[in-house]
Amino acid sequence: MNNDRQMYNVDLSCAECKTAITQLPFEPTGDKPVYCTTCLRARRDSRGNSRDSRGPRQMYQVNEKCAECNAAITQLPFQPSGGKPLYCFDCVKARRQ
Ligand SMILES: [Zn+2]
Ligand SMILES: [Zn+2]
Repeated sequence: MNNDRQMYNVDLSCAECKTAITQLPFEPTGDKPVYCTTCLRARRDSRGNSRDSRGPRQMYQVNEKCAECNAAITQLPFQPSGGKPLYCFDCVKARRQ
């Protein structure tokens, strides 16, 4: 926390809720949307929650091979059961698309 941060006096409105913004912790450049502190926090929360709700992902150390491209797999976000084919991150991503 740095409460001594310099604030710039501005005359803008929030790009999201149109609330008047009179102070910014940075000098507005004019070509970027500006958000009020409420919307900024909401945007930060919505981004953080999707990740934080699951908590830090535990990784299991494994010594497996991708069933698709044969790449070595050394970490998995779940414990391999052995009965299912495993895919590396690239192949998992490619299969999801
Ligand atoms: Zn706003
Ligand atoms: Zn692969």
